[in-house]
Amino acid sequence: MARGYQGSGSPFSGGSPFRGFQEKLARMMQGRYGADSLNRFLLGVAIVCIVLSLFPPLRFISYATTVLLIICIARMYSCNYTARSRENLAFLRITTAPRQFIKITRLRIRHRTTKCYKKCPFCKTYFSLPKGKGKVSATCPSCHKKHTYRT
Ligand SMILES: [Zn+2]
Repeated sequence: MARGYQGSGSPFSGGSPFRGFQEKLARMMQGRYGADSLNRFLLGVAIVCIVLSLFPPLRFISYATTVLLIICIARMYSCNYTARSRENLAFLRITTAPRQFIKITRLRIRHRTTKCYKKCPFCKTYFSLPKGKGKVSATCPSCHKKHTYRT
């Protein structure tokens, strides 16, 4: 008679071993502001600073990293939603142009063979046109004004 492996008592047999930790973390974050766009940006800058501070002449950048991480954690654990939202909105307002540039560049790369992206001269909205059609007259989907574009 062959005896099969029962597999009981393994920490991986039932449920996640991190379940207790996740519940504690969720309880700890209740009523707290949490992560937003500004926090993600600060964290990204902190990671870049960590990499830069690995080079000996740039060691001093590690102080900036510490300050950035303290700001990040303080914002995440803050209970003042209004102030944190106001900071995030100001950040989003300031970074509108670079975020739009990154978004349009990604779209241009993804659809480089089929579409071209043009900016409306009246309302500055970007919209796509089919590529390789020569000079076309197009109506802006946002302000509905007609203009001629080279595709
Ligand atoms: Zn327009």
